[in-house]
Amino acid sequence: MNLHYKSTRNSNLRVTASEAILKGLAPDGGLFVPEKLPVLDVSMEELKGMTYQETAYTVMKQFLTDFTEEELRNCITRAYDSKFDTKEIAPLVKVDNTYYLELFHGATIAFKDMALSILPHLMTTSAKKNQVQNKIVILTATSGDTGKAALAGFADVEGTRIIVFYPKNGVSRVQELQMVTQKGNNVDVVAIHGNFDHAQSGVKAMFEDSELAKKLEDNGYQFSSANSINIGRLVPQVVYYVYAYAKLLENEEIQLGEKINVVVPTGNFGNILAAYYAKQMGVPIDKLVCASNENKVLFDFFQTGTYDRNREFVLTSSPSMDILISSNLERLIYLISGEDDQKTKQMMEDLKCRGVYEITDDMKARMNDFVSGYATEAECAQNIREVYNKTGYVIDTHTAVASYVCGKYQENSLDSKKSVVASTASPYKFVKSVLTAIDEKYADMDELDLLKVLETVSGVEMPQAIQDILNANVLHTLECEKDNMRETVEKILNI
Ligand SMILES: *Cc1c(COP(=O)(O)O)cnc(C)c1O
Repeated sequence: MNLHYKSTRNSNLRVTASEAILKGLAPDGGLFVPEKLPVLDVSMEELKGMTYQETAYTVMKQFLTDFTEEELRNCITRAYDSKFDTKEIAPLVKVDNTYYLELFHGATIAFKDMALSILPHLMTTSAKKNQVQNKIVILTATSGDTGKAALAGFADVEGTRIIVFYPKNGVSRVQELQMVTQKGNNVDVVAIHGNFDHAQSGVKAMFEDSELAKKLEDNGYQFSSANSINIGRLVPQVVYYVYAYAKLLENEEIQLGEKINVVVPTGNFGNILAAYYAKQMGVPIDKLVCASNENKVLFDFFQTGTYDRNREFVLTSSPSMDILISSNLERLIYLISGEDDQKTKQMMEDLKCRGVYEITDDMKARMNDFVSGYATEAECAQNIREVYNKTGYVIDTHTAVASYVCGKYQENSLDSKKSVVASTASPYKFVKSVLTAIDEKYADMDELDLLKVLETVSGVEMPQAIQDILNANVLHTLECEKDNMRETVEKILNI
């Protein structure tokens, strides 16, 4: 059976999975969604004993039906290997009756590795399947996490080039070092004199520049996108929710069929949507708890049914969730509208023009599976401190937002179901905010010195990813003005 994908803004536009991965976004600006959400074709009993890689194959084959078994297994084997510092790939850790699903054991110690370590392989396989001869050029603008994860994923992958733009003074010291020390024959990193918005607009402009597209084509190149609206990033994220449930069963923490809640620190709505897909596939998940930081546009949306991005953008200690437009929400809107492409299109146009849209009561009723909450900066820090003081376990700022919201939800709802909290980054990545939350005395210390301190405080050895950047050479020093991004790309590609 072949599963096709259609655009959220045009249900008649049908493409295969591999075409959707290559294109990223539909030509009408919509996102690709499966025509029908697949269900698991194995029992939970069978899933119980599976490795992460076997689980990945079982889940992903349901979505990527035009990949052969050999192709898909190949992608999985190459993605989930020794780049991860544990065989389990995504360990589930029980701390004080909450289960933290640690999604930060990959090359860049944040959850984007879960998808970005396989996307390059899905993409090159898709290119082969569709007789694409051009070399694929990935252009990415980053505020820190995505850039490094994409660099690590695409480094030395044959048939690809990757160019990452980051704001020169807009990322943390650790994040910058992670990027400028990236090895690989096909990688370039550019610091722009501007902020993240400038970097993102510059990249977007290049994607829409037909003259540049022609020039690329003439030189055997084409652009593609590694950003989180690509279905090739969403599908691999469904896997770890299936895996987490099977692990709970295997460890006899739950009974077969027992429902659990999942709590996700949310920005672009990709990770939590993957959990929702897992539920639709048959995993006994009850509530999907959407946790926001002070940029609580999603919390307000779930409360009121109105999505309103007209508000002040807040810089928080969980920067990967500092987002006012959660792109992947469009996929949920499409589903709850009864797959009404015109309605979805209209709402997204309203969002673009006026920064706001409103859903109907019917649509709101179809979001029953979701619960939402948010944590202020003080509540996030308080949660890091409390979890640490009580258990000795150190969580990062993003995870703490979810952990706080999880506790509040349990308190207010009296819902006693077991909860899995998606733990999206290693505390080493946000060492300063994490340690300062535990004790104010760390506030004035140098970030790199604090890495050693965290080793003592947490009892968790410094990850290889951190040790590597402390010793590595800076390989990328290219900088450019925000209006010169296109020229910089042309120079890099020598076109
Ligand atoms: C990207 C990111 C998030 C948000 O995930 P979405 O899929 O965008 O909702 C949360 N935490 C960390 C550490 C991230 O890097």
